Amino acid sequence: MICLICGMKVTSRSFDFNKYSFIEKNTEQEIINCPFCGVSKVYLDNQKNVYNVEKSLLDKQTIKILDNAMKLEVYNGEFYEEASKLAKSESLKKMFKDLSNIEFMHAKVHKRLGGFSELPKLHKPDYTRHNTDKLLLEEANKREEHAVLFYMRNMSKVSSEIVKKVFKALSEVEKQHIDLTNK
Ligand SMILES: [Zn+2]
Repeated sequence: MICLICGMKVTSRSFDFNKYSFIEKNTEQEIINCPFCGVSKVYLDNQKNVYNVEKSLLDKQTIKILDNAMKLEVYNGEFYEEASKLAKSESLKKMFKDLSNIEFMHAKVHKRLGGFSELPKLHKPDYTRHNTDKLLLEEANKREEHAVLFYMRNMSKVSSEIVKKVFKALSEVEKQHIDLTNK
């Protein structure tokens, strides 16, 4: 099956990728979420084309919003990468690493939709003040809340129905992450 959101192929080899980022995990028999970007199985399809837009048809505001969405996901992906190194618990390290992969995949989706040539290089904050697993989880939870709000707020502002659909799908993934980091 192909994921209409991220374009990746879900196979018997990839079904359990990033499994620690999910509350309900895929099995080979039952795929619940895309293992690459986390979206629901309703977006897994062999018959339809991967969601895409013609950049020339997007208005300025939509391109700006996609740029911000890409930055937000890179920022969160980098946070999770750091958090996976800083976390003390082994299970948390794994979860943060998988969440990092998922958020970077979201950034790549926005990169494709917005027709951007590369992922942004952002200033990396120093996260070492989050020196307990509890503080890392709190920070993660705050970011997920922020991401959901971002997608909700911008869903009505984008001019493309496709971009709207992608924002809806990704916001549902981030909602799961809120639950996952709410410990
Ligand atoms: Zn996907």
